[in-house]
Amino acid sequence: MEAKNNRIVIAIDGFSSCGKSTMAKDLAKELGYIYIDTGAMYRAVTLYCMRQGILTGNGIDQELLRCKMKDISISFRLNDATGRPDTYLNGECVENEIRTMEVSNHVSPVAAIGFVREAMVRQQRVLGKDKGVVMDGRDIGTVVFPDAELKVFVTATAEVRAKRRYDELTAKGMDCNMEEILANVRERDRIDSTREISPLRKADDAIILDNSNMTIQEQKAWLMEQVRERTTN
Ligand code: C5P
Repeated sequence: MEAKNNRIVIAIDGFSSCGKSTMAKDLAKELGYIYIDTGAMYRAVTLYCMRQGILTGNGIDQELLRCKMKDISISFRLNDATGRPDTYLNGECVENEIRTMEVSNHVSPVAAIGFVREAMVRQQRVLGKDKGVVMDGRDIGTVVFPDAELKVFVTATAEVRAKRRYDELTAKGMDCNMEEILANVRERDRIDSTREISPLRKADDAIILDNSNMTIQEQKAWLMEQVRERTTN
């Protein structure tokens, strides 16, 4: 992939609650790039399934979901108040609904379905085709943009990640429980890394960022240096 006007594709993959999205959003803002949160897309599909009775106590009705995929439209719109993009499902802002524990508890099995991934990957490639994009997820450097100029694989201990998630949810006034969050983080790691299609793994040419003991500022400086190295001749 040759960078157009020095604008590149930045793929940020890694485990749940590593702070990938905060990092990716800030980086995109700093560079004037588009930010795409691919986890939000899988969360929006999950919310749709919950609302439409596709996801029940018995699991996911895959045949029904397959028929309904064409009715699911996901988009992002900049929120002027936060300066960040909000996620829209069929024209409705669902930014808060998709962050609940209920969605977190169901999203990984939905994201493991082949036809769901195909539909999301297709949209993600369109969104990033002009470069100048920071995309975060699980399979961006391995599947969505295997030729991305910069690939970062983010990791941190499960405990550090659960604590960050807890702080984030309580700051939003959401009721939550540390044990439940830690169990959810571990379970999502397990499903995401062991699923058959596009499992979470580090791309061979990705660089690892373990941010367990890094401040946001240190992380940002490190990332900017990686971008500089790839955009200056
Ligand atoms: O990034 P976030 O934690 O919001 O993602 C929610 C879930 O969506 C992940 O646990 C994973 O199951 C799924 N996901 C995925 N592929 C991506 C992004 C997210 O399978 N590219």
